Amino acid sequence: MPTYSALKTFLRHTIHSLALAERQILGSCKGRSFILPTPDATFAWCHRCGAPRNCIHTSQAHDENFSCKKCIGVCLARDRTIRLGTYEGQWRNAILAVKHGGDRTLARDLGKLLAHQWQQTISIASFVGDDAIIIPVPMPFTRRVERGIDHASEIASGVSKTLGYPMIRCLEHDAGPVQAQMTRADRQSRSQRIRWKGIQKRKFRPFTTLDLPSIKTVFVVDDVLTTGSTVAQVCAAIRNRLGPVKIVMLVVATT
Ligand SMILES: [Zn+2]
Repeated sequence: MPTYSALKTFLRHTIHSLALAERQILGSCKGRSFILPTPDATFAWCHRCGAPRNCIHTSQAHDENFSCKKCIGVCLARDRTIRLGTYEGQWRNAILAVKHGGDRTLARDLGKLLAHQWQQTISIASFVGDDAIIIPVPMPFTRRVERGIDHASEIASGVSKTLGYPMIRCLEHDAGPVQAQMTRADRQSRSQRIRWKGIQKRKFRPFTTLDLPSIKTVFVVDDVLTTGSTVAQVCAAIRNRLGPVKIVMLVVATT
């Protein structure tokens, strides 16, 4: 017998999916507008690590234990990776329009697409009812001020609106060199910079009843997934505080 909250979440999912299907999502980058491409089919990437999957077997698309050639035998901090596409073409334009163009509406639409993509990969019935929260990957304060937008939080708020779980900015990131200027080895060897900051209840009045120990699933949201070293730090900070939760990485594009 489904509970009231499960039914409510199911209805919310359905309404948002219909609304998204009906409209084309427009963005603009350097003065040119574009329409976002259709997100990748669920069997196009490895749900464990997010890498493109070349040997396509649709029957394996929903197998939780599937590992691709790239991640087989590799210990990953996250349990699942959900993505919309690869970091090129229009997905890249969309990310740049959010990051450097400050397009908040587009960021939220990307979040809604990500939530929808998650719903495509898992049977709703087996998921609703679990207590979950959404955590954006934090960016250093100085960079946020410089850019004028916290892109991961904007995307995460689109996810939150669609899935109906609270978004909580509970992590903080110490400033360091800009990632794009670092080599791959630098990024991998970088020391721990992400910490649990805590929850500011004042900002989350609707969720003051949030019971952290009951959280079973955490959705971590970011724009691009590169080496996965930041995600690993985020996962460690979350599990240090919340214990052994299931972590689902929602990312617009993988490199
Ligand atoms: Zn993989």
